[in-house]
Amino acid sequence: MAVKNVPHIGNMIIAIDGPAGAGKSTVAQKLARRLDLRYLDTGAMYRALTLKALRSHLDLDDEDKLASMAADMDLHMEYAYRRIPPYRVLMEGEDVTAAIRSREVSAHVSRVSSLPCVRKEMVRKQRSLAAGGGMIVEGRDVGTVVFPQADMKFYITASVKERARRRHREMKKDGYDVSLHTIQQEMIRRDNFDSTRKYNPLKRAPDAELVDTTGENVSQVVGKLLSLVTERAKEAGEAG
Ligand code: C5P
Repeated sequence: MAVKNVPHIGNMIIAIDGPAGAGKSTVAQKLARRLDLRYLDTGAMYRALTLKALRSHLDLDDEDKLASMAADMDLHMEYAYRRIPPYRVLMEGEDVTAAIRSREVSAHVSRVSSLPCVRKEMVRKQRSLAAGGGMIVEGRDVGTVVFPQADMKFYITASVKERARRRHREMKKDGYDVSLHTIQQEMIRRDNFDSTRKYNPLKRAPDAELVDTTGENVSQVVGKLLSLVTERAKEAGEAG
């Protein structure tokens, strides 16, 4: 059921950041549905660029070429909660929703996304996609860099063991035969890279609500976020 009669929610920008496998996408999509907001997965943008670069055999250290590939890339993302999967990514008209989640893309995406010129281009696109507000934006630097003035910020995390277990379950469902240990190692490596890179690293914005989802189910987490957002929207309404 959608949340109704709370003015201001419809224009809000809600930033959700956090490490891999914390449950950001699931929670963000459910929240978008309940609040009737648009949803943007910024990780999907970096993944799509990485897929395109790998397919074109581009040197992944060639920052200028990658940045111009990012600028020229024809990318469409659609969120429709009734559809399976609800989030669809189209690159040059091709549905790459599953391809961008491959292990090969996951293994290279952090390197591509650490390049300053690539990030500048992606941040520009993300701001333009969110123009007009009314969007939940998910990623690593949304609350710190893309929308430092976001109306509400969350930093969602969970223990590394639980995050690896969740990702392992998802990958098995998608037909990948890979051990929990390997997934955990790959996840630790990627989080390390993302949080220690020089330019726009993954970190919690000082004004982001910390949400630890360890041991919590999706509806508990969504419920928590919903009440924080509606509270914030009511305060904004009262403040004029
Ligand atoms: O969210 P997801 O795991 O799909 O993101 C894939 C990768 O994209 C991250 O590990 C990170 O390297 C990069 N990313 C980023 N900034 C964002 C979103 C994702 O650097 N805002």
